[in-house]
Amino acid sequence: MSKRDYYEILGVQRNANDSDIKRAYRSLAVKFHPDKNPDDPQAEDRFKECAEAYAVLSDAQKRAAYDRFGHSGVGAGGPGFDPGYANFEDIFDMFGFGDMFGARGGGRRSRVQRGADLRYDLEISLEDAALGKDERLKIPRLEKCGECDGTGAEEGTHPDDCIACGGSGQTRYQQGFFSVMRTCPNCAGKGQVIKNPCKECRSQGRIEKEKILEIKIPAGVETGSRLRVSGEGESGSNGGQTGDLYVIIHVKEHKVFERQGENLYAAVPVSFAQAALGAEITVPTLDGEEPLTVPAGTQTGTVFRIKSKGMPVLGGRGRGDLFVAVTLITPKSLSKDQRKLLEQLAEIEDTEFSDASFMDKVRNIFG
Ligand SMILES: [Zn+2]
Ligand SMILES: [Zn+2]
Repeated sequence: MSKRDYYEILGVQRNANDSDIKRAYRSLAVKFHPDKNPDDPQAEDRFKECAEAYAVLSDAQKRAAYDRFGHSGVGAGGPGFDPGYANFEDIFDMFGFGDMFGARGGGRRSRVQRGADLRYDLEISLEDAALGKDERLKIPRLEKCGECDGTGAEEGTHPDDCIACGGSGQTRYQQGFFSVMRTCPNCAGKGQVIKNPCKECRSQGRIEKEKILEIKIPAGVETGSRLRVSGEGESGSNGGQTGDLYVIIHVKEHKVFERQGENLYAAVPVSFAQAALGAEITVPTLDGEEPLTVPAGTQTGTVFRIKSKGMPVLGGRGRGDLFVAVTLITPKSLSKDQRKLLEQLAEIEDTEFSDASFMDKVRNIFG
């Protein structure tokens, strides 16, 4: 396989100086870089070819050997020669053209970080969920250190640009003839070092504080409702945006009411006499007691609906309903009079219950 001449590849004269070679390679590398020519194997081949040529011609010793002995003089082109490619930005960095074409732009100095979002789990009563409530929250969170104004350096001093990386947070090291960027070990990628750390925040720039926040819990929230309090999360670092606070609602179980969406359910006890004869009873609601007419002959488990005594609709209008299931209560102990009357009742029931059709029904139930 014949190999093209390295000077020809880079399009330079044999007497070209280092900067000519550098310039030629840079423009070709930009032109044929795989990042710019996805799915074009030809461009990739050209790119590798240029890289190989540059690797030799930019090295005085290798160039001299190449000039004297040609390709065999530098042992290039053998199997396994693969320059690989560093990423696009590194080509610029390699030549010290860091900011050309905006190839660098964002990112490298990305020490600006948005503060974390915070989650706060808040337990409230069903009554509070129904009516809404103003709640005071105590939130431990990281806030900007007031002592150093977030810089992490003692008052009157300031962080210095890291000498090792020149403030970029990254250092370059040579891998073959490509430079590869690594997080700077001197500043841990921050780009700055603090000689006189702020004692208040131990150079973190942020400090844990307990913030008291007043929040409004809207009527109708339920377990799992998420209230977003914008900008009340942790403060960002290096001027980054503050995170948000999310308050997660947990509604405590209620002794009387069970909730399903906007409706409430309750069981109300009635006596046999009330159920049989009919009665005016009172039932609990979130707004106090309400009268309820139980008609004569009401069976246990019968459900009555009391309109608009349920939960308010979150962010909407109106309220759900309250469903009351009457439950027949069998007395555990009886007074003398009660016992006497019930015995009399039992005597009458005996005759009535001997009714054949009723007994048939009972038999059917138990198979
Ligand atoms: Zn501080
Ligand atoms: Zn550094």
